[in-house]
Amino acid sequence: MLSGLEVLQWLIGGCGALLVAGAAYWKQSLSLSGMLAAVLMGTIYFGAGNLFWFGILLVFFISSSLLSKLHHENKAELEATYDKTGRRDAGQVFANGGLGMLMVLLNAVYPLEMWSFLFIGVMATVTSDTWATEIGTLAKRPPRSVLTGKVLQAGTSGGVSLPGTLAAAAGGALIGAASWGLRLGTGMASHPLVLLVSAGLLGGLAGAFADSVLGATVQRMNRCTVCGREVEASSHCGKPTVFARGWRWMDNDAVNAVSSITGGAVALLVSYIG
Ligand SMILES: [Zn+2]
Repeated sequence: MLSGLEVLQWLIGGCGALLVAGAAYWKQSLSLSGMLAAVLMGTIYFGAGNLFWFGILLVFFISSSLLSKLHHENKAELEATYDKTGRRDAGQVFANGGLGMLMVLLNAVYPLEMWSFLFIGVMATVTSDTWATEIGTLAKRPPRSVLTGKVLQAGTSGGVSLPGTLAAAAGGALIGAASWGLRLGTGMASHPLVLLVSAGLLGGLAGAFADSVLGATVQRMNRCTVCGREVEASSHCGKPTVFARGWRWMDNDAVNAVSSITGGAVALLVSYIG
């Protein structure tokens, strides 16, 4: 049975999640399905976790939503080549926060410090990745292939740029710093600030790097039958796209999952060294 305090915690989580997800829906950052998924996810982060887990989700979500509002003349066109639009749907919400939610649940059932560090690395990766994409597409100089160094068209999977990499580092470091503050505020086992910032920074960079390498090699890419562009999306120019290259099952969600696990593993490694 849940105690009165636990019921209260789930209720607070549900209200907090509804408030944030509702505002995001209102601001057109989330679709209706995305809003429902975000309410469910936020409730679990707070109810089964606490303000540490929920707060990190908020730092990722709010910072990414704000960055995606930065506009550039080419950005709308670029977004069409990605497997996403301005509004995130339920699939994208789970792709970004699903692994983190698994860590929250594992920690609730079997509490270990390990879950916290895996969580920091996973959330640092999704934050770094989003920041790198948003800032990278604003950069004036075109990206280069992470494998060959060849200049690529802006927005191509597997491309990296200096502004994008700096944004990835900053996003990861912010997750680490926020972890330190939130753990202090919730009275959880504390770790030195420099250790948590290192875990977020290195985990985020490793995850974002894995994302680029997968994008340049085995990520499934499709071709638009109308304009001929190579895209991640399953439809383009209003028509379904056809398979072009990569492993058929390695779609954007699979790439996100492998990258996040990489980031989590690196953050955990940092905790053992630190
Ligand atoms: Zn097209």
